Amino acid sequence: EQAHPEDAKAAMAQLAAHLKGEIPHLETELRIRHPKGHWIWILIRGRVSRRDSGGRAELLSGILFDIDERKQAEAELRTAASVFTHSGEGILITDADLKIVDVNEAFTHITGYAREEVIGRKPGILSSGRHDRTFYGAMWEEISETGAWSGEIWNRRRDGSDYAQRLTISTVRDAWGQPLQYVGLFADITAQKNYQRELERMAHYDSLTGLPNRILLGDRLSQAMSMARRNNERMAVVYMDLDDFKLVNDQLGHQAGDQVLRQVAQRFAGALRETDTVARPGGDEFVAILNGLDSDGQVRPLLQRLLDEVNRPIVVADNAVEVGVSIGVSFYPQAGQPEADQLLRQADQAMFEAKRKGRNELCYFDAEMEQTARKRHDHQQRIRAALLANEFVLYYQPQIDLEQAAVIGVEALIRWQHPEQGLLGPGAFLPLIEDVALAADLGQWVIDRALQDLERWSEAGFDFEVAVNVSAAELLASEFPARLREQLAARPGVAPERLLLEVVETSMLEDVTRANEITHACHGLGVNFALDDFGTGFSSLNHLKHLPLKQLKIDRSFVLDMMSDPDDLAIVEAVINLGRAFGLEVLAEGVENEEHVTALRQLGCRLAQGYLFAKPMPAEKIPEWMQSWCLPSAWRETPRLVAGGRWLLFAEAELRCRRRRLQKIVAEAGAQCPVDSGSDRRSSLNTWLDKHADSVHCEPISQADIMLRETEQQLLQCCRTQQYQRAAGALVEWSDQAEQLITLIRKLRCTAHDSALRP
Ligand code: C2E
Ligand code: CA
Ligand code: CA
Repeated sequence: EQAHPEDAKAAMAQLAAHLKGEIPHLETELRIRHPKGHWIWILIRGRVSRRDSGGRAELLSGILFDIDERKQAEAELRTAASVFTHSGEGILITDADLKIVDVNEAFTHITGYAREEVIGRKPGILSSGRHDRTFYGAMWEEISETGAWSGEIWNRRRDGSDYAQRLTISTVRDAWGQPLQYVGLFADITAQKNYQRELERMAHYDSLTGLPNRILLGDRLSQAMSMARRNNERMAVVYMDLDDFKLVNDQLGHQAGDQVLRQVAQRFAGALRETDTVARPGGDEFVAILNGLDSDGQVRPLLQRLLDEVNRPIVVADNAVEVGVSIGVSFYPQAGQPEADQLLRQADQAMFEAKRKGRNELCYFDAEMEQTARKRHDHQQRIRAALLANEFVLYYQPQIDLEQAAVIGVEALIRWQHPEQGLLGPGAFLPLIEDVALAADLGQWVIDRALQDLERWSEAGFDFEVAVNVSAAELLASEFPARLREQLAARPGVAPERLLLEVVETSMLEDVTRANEITHACHGLGVNFALDDFGTGFSSLNHLKHLPLKQLKIDRSFVLDMMSDPDDLAIVEAVINLGRAFGLEVLAEGVENEEHVTALRQLGCRLAQGYLFAKPMPAEKIPEWMQSWCLPSAWRETPRLVAGGRWLLFAEAELRCRRRRLQKIVAEAGAQCPVDSGSDRRSSLNTWLDKHADSVHCEPISQADIMLRETEQQLLQCCRTQQYQRAAGALVEWSDQAEQLITLIRKLRCTAHDSALRP
């Protein structure tokens, strides 16, 4: 009655069987109530120790064991077994000799091996062969020392495919501490591993071309460098930047651009040797590492291959695209033991130098290049600092309307008030600016300041324009129109029409579509445009027609020489006529003397700017200058040059030009200069004389011309016979006579009656 009801029946049945002699021993486990009231497990082991003659039991002896603890352990084991069977992780148990004694269902699921197939065998059957002896050696060493190991390992499935697993091995020891069993617990992490590998690939390879990216390039470069050192070989780093790739993007779209990059990448990869690396650090830049060279010269044919590959036309979207590449090369080892990134920078610098030379150029890095590059860098820094320190100032030079005798505007010209070097002109620092962002910032400062000054002058009642020079880099920056809009909005007192942006024609040609868009966007804000230095580039007239221009500026180099160089005079005349044809204002810059004014007026140019009127001056001087200035009346009345008079203008320029030529012949003693006869000279004067043979003015001019020709013949004769003393004397005479002739011509040209000048 002390026994647990669940166990009592079985115990009683056993007892009955034993008493009857059916079983030799009595051994039963059952729960009995402890005096304190709870149940405990006991084991009863016993037998009948004496029987009567009839075989009936007389004495029963036995022992009671407390097995409560064991029972509890067994219960735990049962749970463990259930975990073992149903775990999602693979479990493998071996004996001390590493023979597999058990595996679970997940093991079978992961490895593909059935339980029967592996029992009794060693875990080596799962090996993928990816790990070497040392790997396993280290693993078992750790297990014997610490009793456990965990890590990632590649194994092979029954079907031959490899899988990655995270594996924990632990040792089960016996009471004396000897290994009894090893339990391996593992999870399949192949998917995770693959994902990780994909991430790594993404981190190291460029997704567009599949080439190594900047990060992997750095690794490879360091490896190649240490290999070159070890093997005592040379290696080259080749920086390649495609020429005008932007045009491909702009004209054919970005998808086409991507295709071009992909094809170029393939070609580069194909053109190199197995051991070389080609990477794409970004944009349209590629870097090749060429190793195992015996000499630097060996690199040339490899580079040629790269060049040839790129130069073959690339077909994208039915267009044959021609791509060029600028190449910069640096070598290793070299003096100074540069680091990998320095070597790369050197090649990049050489590439920059190649770009400077033009398309498809090649440049090798040298130490001098390093120095100039550093200097350039220092200049950028210095200029940026100057901008922050407010060391720049704007000077203004007035622009005159000769016909109206009025000031129409002022041109803003930047100066640098350098703390040590004094006032510097733009030529001393603008050409050094290479950083596009710096150019844009400086340009923004100029516009800001000019608008500020303009506002002040407007308030003071002055009514003129401010012209501001805008560089190509500034203008073509995409944010230019937006910035300008903000700048204008910040100065509501200024009418946008008062701002005239001067752009040089060459900058408009760099990227015609972009230039068009941007100028139109700005024009939409009310701002006007002038084409600066006109005549120095090669403008397409078609392009000119489409730009929203107000003004053409004749470059001062042409104006300066127009009265002594017939070619320059021809250009000045052509620009004036072009402006008239397109309905644009024409402004001549660099007007230095009265002669310029007369000639320009006669050719039909109304607007002028130059030292003759005023030099550039600080902003605060402008109001004072405006008040005191007036145009001499003589200049106002210069008559227009009527047809025919043009020949006289050219005649004057030709005479001056001829004088220079003769001076040269005499000065160089005839040695270098072939002594030509005067007869082949292009003579506008002759043309005029032919056309006005009946004019009263004709006679004296004709006479003077004949005398001049005679003197010239004598002069040349002296040179031919090497009488240079006499030649020099003849030159003085020639110059006097030429001057007299010029005076006659000019008088005629400037006081001419229409009758005399009509063709
Ligand atoms: P530019 O636009 O052709 O400017 C006219 C230049 O001619 C100015 O030189 C001016 O001082 C000079 N000049 C004016 N009249 C005469 C004259 O009668 N005879 C001679 N020989 N020269 C005369 P500056 O100020 O040295 O400027 C040089 C160039 O620097 C400018 O040429 C312009 O291209 C550029 N520049 C000046 N300021 C700026 C600016 O704020 N931004 C940008 N992007 N460029 C500027
Ligand atoms: Ca200008
Ligand atoms: Ca100019």
